[in-house]
Amino acid sequence: MDFNLPEELQMLKDTVRKFVDHELIPIEMHSQENNELKPEIRERLEKKTKEMGLWMFDVPEEYGGGGLGSLAQVLVWEQMCRTIALPSRGRGIFGPEIRPILYALNDDQKKRFLDPILRGEKELCFMQTEPDAGSDPGSMKTRAVRQGDYYIVNGTKRFITGADKADFGQLMAVTDPAKGSHGGISCFMVDMKSPGLKITAKYKTMMGEEPCEIVFDDLKVPAENLVGKEGEGFKLAQKWLGIGRLKHGARALGVAERCIEMGSRYAKQRVTFGKPLSERQGITFKLADSYVELHAARLMVYQAAWKNDQNEDIRTEAYMAKMFADEMSFRVVDRVLQIHGGIGLTLDLPLAKWFVDQRSRMITEGASEVMRMVIAREVLKRYN
Ligand SMILES: Cc1cc2nc3c(=O)[nH]c(=O)nc-3n(C[C@H](O)[C@H](O)[C@H](O)COP(=O)(O)OP(=O)(O)OC[C@H]3O[C@@H](n4cnc5c(N)ncnc54)[C@H](O)[C@@H]3O)c2cc1C
Repeated sequence: MDFNLPEELQMLKDTVRKFVDHELIPIEMHSQENNELKPEIRERLEKKTKEMGLWMFDVPEEYGGGGLGSLAQVLVWEQMCRTIALPSRGRGIFGPEIRPILYALNDDQKKRFLDPILRGEKELCFMQTEPDAGSDPGSMKTRAVRQGDYYIVNGTKRFITGADKADFGQLMAVTDPAKGSHGGISCFMVDMKSPGLKITAKYKTMMGEEPCEIVFDDLKVPAENLVGKEGEGFKLAQKWLGIGRLKHGARALGVAERCIEMGSRYAKQRVTFGKPLSERQGITFKLADSYVELHAARLMVYQAAWKNDQNEDIRTEAYMAKMFADEMSFRVVDRVLQIHGGIGLTLDLPLAKWFVDQRSRMITEGASEVMRMVIAREVLKRYN
């Protein structure tokens, strides 16, 4: 068993770390406007990521990307998330955001949907959650009924990120109510400008994101827009969300490490009652606990990514890593914010943003309770 990163991966990690330290951290408090990178900053940074060979690093080579493996991707995401310079969702500086479920499209669908997204001309949103179906997507009610060459869709989706800007949507809908999540839910590619699709509300969230509510009223979706076979949608979505969990974990590592860096520096420089905070056990124990928890989370996330690279099933490991790393990073942000006192609460530092963002991560893309539910199922199966 070798816990050291292979040399080329260590080099990749070091290169991205340097890029973040020199190019992103110095601009992080003024790089965005309305949750988007300022255009001149985007242009400059995209040029750099292309020079570094990191453009579309997480896209397979056959689609023109860098084709990095899971562990390599985790290393890049971890370093990139040591800063709030980039928007936490949506397009970053490494090219268009590609949801891996798009690789399940057939050749004709890839031409119509994947290619324009890869070229950066079109954007995609993912429509699964409903007012009465969040953690339990199997109870969704949005119905797609086949009529000749079309499916007719009726229902409501809620909390859909980027629906107001997206050109295409990936829609999950019930095609066989009797089967539910066991073969009764299908996935469709939808043109977001279609008649019969209406954005009816936008929610203001504490993170600044504004996910949308969408109503489908006899929306006509061409039958050739069905992804895979009828009834396969749920399995496909779960597969995509599984890979996304490693990204969540890596993000949490980056946030926690930067917080520990900040907490350590601040504790050494801030003097109260005649001594630096770094000489107070009540402060240094917060850093020690954070460091131990970060180490444990890093081992979990790296191991799950490594196992994915060996083509092994990582469902349980990915759930454990996401849950532990997300909860760990929130505890770390909270402790380091406390070390900073009043300045930690201001918007002059990234801590307040992380406090809100990392809190939201325990709910979105698989709430902590749902992770525990799945892990508990595995425990009960294993030890009977
Ligand atoms: C900003 C934002 C962006 C989002 N973007 C998207 C998007 O782009 N596309 C999309 O489809 N969805 C999106 N969502 C939806 C998100 O995935 C759901 O909010 C999430 O899955 C939780 O569902 P819910 O809000 O309905 O909570 P509920 O399912 O109602 O759960 C409420 C609470 O109960 C807990 N709980 C639920 N069931 C159990 C149980 N069996 N045992 C114990 N505890 C349980 C949950 O963990 C949670 O804490 C987004 C949400 C937000 C807030």
